[in-house]
Amino acid sequence: MNAISKIVCVGRNYAAHAAELNNPIPTEPLLFIKPPSSLTTLEDVRIPTHLGACHHELEIAVQIAKRLQYVDAETAARGINKATLALDLTLRDVQDRLKAQGQPWERAKAFDGACVLAPWQVVDNLDDVQHSKFQLLRNGKLQQDGDATTMLTPIAELVAHISQVFTLEPGDVVLTGTPAGVGPLAVGDVLELGWQLAGHSMQWSAKVQARD
Ligand code: ZN
Repeated sequence: MNAISKIVCVGRNYAAHAAELNNPIPTEPLLFIKPPSSLTTLEDVRIPTHLGACHHELEIAVQIAKRLQYVDAETAARGINKATLALDLTLRDVQDRLKAQGQPWERAKAFDGACVLAPWQVVDNLDDVQHSKFQLLRNGKLQQDGDATTMLTPIAELVAHISQVFTLEPGDVVLTGTPAGVGPLAVGDVLELGWQLAGHSMQWSAKVQARD
């Protein structure tokens, strides 16, 4: 198992999510990075409580198996060997303020615990992931209902594009964007993550705790 050197994320990869935040659809993938220090698991979901709204963004994550630099989509697809669900936790009020001031987003998206990963699943065929569906329930209520076939930039093309910008090393993680339905979390929330992948149905749960 290789150490994770970075988590590369894409913003606005589902049209309905771009629309719900009144954002235009980008002409090329909108990329940002979370550091390894932002990683956590579903057993330890902690949100800052003094920095305004902290939104859940449920996303499909993939893990890179071999070094990818300036590759095409076909090579990118062969370079991915694991996938799971992720929560891209986002301090939305902080992000709105940073965006208004033309500043980078790291304070809103790269804090400790801002990248929650469910257990990795071995992927034999990336096409299965691209045709999977995924859901987030918050306190029993369906918040996000994702269909990976509706990504604006599919996973293989996205990873190929990223490899033109950042060399992806074995172990690195790519978050593929969130569908519509993002919203604020509260301490004590019970989250249920569901994923239907290649005929298998997976489910994980988490309880939201305070970080500070
Ligand atoms: Zn996101």
